Amino acid sequence: MAVPMLDLSKQHAALAGELCRVFEAVLKSGRFVLGDQVESFERELAEACAADVAVGVSSGTDALLLSMMALGVQPGDEVITSPFTFFATAGCVARLGARAVFVDIDPQTYHIDADQIAAAITPRTRGVIPVHLFGQCADMGAITRVASDHSLWVIEDAAQAIGARDALGSAGTLGHAGCLSFYPTKNLSALGDAGACLTQDAELAQRMKRLRTHGDVGRYEHAAIGGNFRLDALQAAMLRVKLPHLRAWNQQRRECAARYHAALRDLPLALPVARSVAHPGEGSREEPRRESGENPGEGLGGHVYHQYTVRVRGGQRDALRDHLRAAGIGCEVYYPIPLHLQACFGSWGHQRGDFPHAEQAAQEVLSLPVYPGLSAEDQQAVVDAIRRFYATGQS
Ligand SMILES: *Cc1c(COP(=O)(O)O)cnc(C)c1O
Repeated sequence: MAVPMLDLSKQHAALAGELCRVFEAVLKSGRFVLGDQVESFERELAEACAADVAVGVSSGTDALLLSMMALGVQPGDEVITSPFTFFATAGCVARLGARAVFVDIDPQTYHIDADQIAAAITPRTRGVIPVHLFGQCADMGAITRVASDHSLWVIEDAAQAIGARDALGSAGTLGHAGCLSFYPTKNLSALGDAGACLTQDAELAQRMKRLRTHGDVGRYEHAAIGGNFRLDALQAAMLRVKLPHLRAWNQQRRECAARYHAALRDLPLALPVARSVAHPGEGSREEPRRESGENPGEGLGGHVYHQYTVRVRGGQRDALRDHLRAAGIGCEVYYPIPLHLQACFGSWGHQRGDFPHAEQAAQEVLSLPVYPGLSAEDQQAVVDAIRRFYATGQS
């Protein structure tokens, strides 16, 4: 039985009627960029994410770029981030003429190691971009503490973590800005490219909205140099249809993860480690953030399994990947090359060995199919294929 890495067809079949209706509504409205649909989506998204303001933008990448522009990143500035993430996190830093200063990851969670951040701070450091990789929040308590001790901003790259929670609150609301992506593979997906910035800072939101439209303050008067980072009305309308389902979809991802956990426990694989999420306020000196909805920490809670990523021991990762693909089981390596070893960042002068945990993760990680609508039978096929690999003593 073939199991794809991701299959949105069930999700879209169930919503097709509604999606087509809102398409017609936007077509009739004649308003295709920003406008009512985008404003309504921004309000609904902010509510769902427990943020004060959401600013709809053209992609997750542009959310990162716009957040840094609004926070005043200049050429020569330094921004601390993880070397084990999607390219855009550091690519946006470089596009502004700034330098990404990498800090190695915690090998258990794959997040930036908060204990190593202080040592990377220099007089040029302006901020930190933690990445909530694979759907789980980085250690935001420790990260925001070191950042505020050094007067740095924090931009959460929450592209993979909409709906996830940290002990302190919801992903994307714990730093100065939070960046979301609605790329079609993400937990909440548009029918194309789209993204959003979240913030609790009304002034920052105002700057973001201006910079989103070339810094225009009205009637072609430009107060700052921005760009075209606008969200389309059609994408906003599609996202408004899907947003009410996000909680249930994330819950289904957690159920898939629990089934993998139970079925793979005895194999020589390191399974994802879900950091325990204490109730807001517990175990931290910070005040809990505003909650939306009853049962904080439960419905939205913890890890949202954007990916279910295992670590394959014994140098067998590529062999297991090839075995699964030959059996028709989708799987992917996120990410095979850590960012400090990307040729285009060569001027930053890194070499192999600089961030050993990120490099080892790049050699060992393998992500398995996990998505709402993945049936127990599909998952059993994935598990059976993995078991066959180890039973036949492949190497
Ligand atoms: C997807 C992703 C982005 C970029 O989002 P796009 O919408 O594809 O531009 C940035 N960071 C991370 C960690 C991502 O997974």
